[in-house]
Amino acid sequence: MRIAIGQLWQETNTFNPTPTTRQDFEEFGVLRGRDLIEQMADTNELGGFIQSLRAWPEKPEIVGLVRLPAWPSGAATAATFDWIRDEVLGSLDLAAPCDAVLLALHGAMVSESEPDVEGAILEAVRQKVGPEVPIVATLDLHTNITEKMVRCASALVLYHTAPHIDVFETGQRGAALLRRILVDGVRPHMAWRKLPMVVPAERANTQDPASVSFALREMLQQLERQPGILAAGLATVQPWLDIPELGSAVVVVTDGDVARAQSECDKVARQVWKRRRDYLGDLVSVSDAVRIAFERHPEGLIVLSDCADATTSGSPGDSTWLLAELVKYDWQRPALVTLVSPEVVAEAQKLGVGGTHPGPLGGVRDHRFSKPLALATQVERLFDARFVLSGHLAKNLPIDMGPSVVLRHGMVRIVVTSRSGPHFAPLLFETAGIDPFTASVVVAKSPCGFRASYAPRAREILVVNAPGCAPPDFWKYEFEKIPRPLWPWDEIAEDAIML
Ligand SMILES: [Zn+2]
Repeated sequence: MRIAIGQLWQETNTFNPTPTTRQDFEEFGVLRGRDLIEQMADTNELGGFIQSLRAWPEKPEIVGLVRLPAWPSGAATAATFDWIRDEVLGSLDLAAPCDAVLLALHGAMVSESEPDVEGAILEAVRQKVGPEVPIVATLDLHTNITEKMVRCASALVLYHTAPHIDVFETGQRGAALLRRILVDGVRPHMAWRKLPMVVPAERANTQDPASVSFALREMLQQLERQPGILAAGLATVQPWLDIPELGSAVVVVTDGDVARAQSECDKVARQVWKRRRDYLGDLVSVSDAVRIAFERHPEGLIVLSDCADATTSGSPGDSTWLLAELVKYDWQRPALVTLVSPEVVAEAQKLGVGGTHPGPLGGVRDHRFSKPLALATQVERLFDARFVLSGHLAKNLPIDMGPSVVLRHGMVRIVVTSRSGPHFAPLLFETAGIDPFTASVVVAKSPCGFRASYAPRAREILVVNAPGCAPPDFWKYEFEKIPRPLWPWDEIAEDAIML
């Protein structure tokens, strides 16, 4: 038995003007064939696949296709999409014949030439392997599920958690479902329901009992444990995608029971639709957030979620809204903020530790919603932002944000990296020689995932309503291609959705 495994991992934010290119994938780490299997055996979904497949009594032969990862950013160029498709199809030619294909797709990837990259890849793979070979794909719950994805895959298996702490386990679930197909002979039937709604990511915390997402996660996991149900997932989608098929979706896979798949799917979809307003959260203005951080907790840590500039949401990571406000205060303990700027890193390296960087800072990559800040800072440290990420998003994922520096203005520390990456991660600050948990304030460029690290230790967390490429009030921004009506852009009558 030969099983081919591969990965495509990029989440697009169509508001980010910086395109995603082949070079971004190559810098993050493309792996092919045996290298993929050797190097990814304990990492993310691929690790979940590999360890599960190795534990099967049938001892299948595992064939590595290709691993194509790039950090969330703007839409991929047309040439990048063509290269991705060629890589996947070429690797399938090398791997043929295979009894099944197991793909770790992330979802929500868009290219200039193709709004539904995962759908197009699944379609190309299906054409290549034919109708009989099972294709099981895993996805982030922020994926935008499309008709093409459902039609071309045998089954889709979604993360259950946000913060994403079940990435490896989702790989295991995908492999387990594939084994039921190949060994137990189940015949997967996938039902789905697209809902005309998109919800903010900030309150969609599946680990917080007060969040609507907690109840829905429990509902899906209970469903998945029932006999005859092979998978159940809710894709609340990530909102910063101006594409024609944008919307949330529920997917239920049964063992051949068409009616049950649809009725269970609709049962979940009804709950999601009914409770959509529960996803709307409390937002704090930039000036209020920083003032509260300064005044309210002289002892503890306050975390400000700059979700609009979240690098995990594909934002450019060089917004200056929070930084401009932070430097107005005389902090007694460090106030930490991050910035993506290869130019500033290069300038600071030339100046050396102790040198004065004259500014300006930021507002270059995100030139639509932010502007450069005139600010002189002192170069405090040069370092390489390289570490292994576990927790939200990852299990043992190597991260390299390139040469980096710490700039200082009073007690405000600005951690500047050459490349985008997980700027919420405590390990980034620790690699820079700073303990984020003893800081007075940390600006986390993340809408929700940062909570996995900070919620247990922060005195307070505030979600800041700054402008940016991944705003929490996205429906107030200009979208041209999304389907309408779509909530919350449009009010839709409760009973207009017949489920
Ligand atoms: Zn996600």
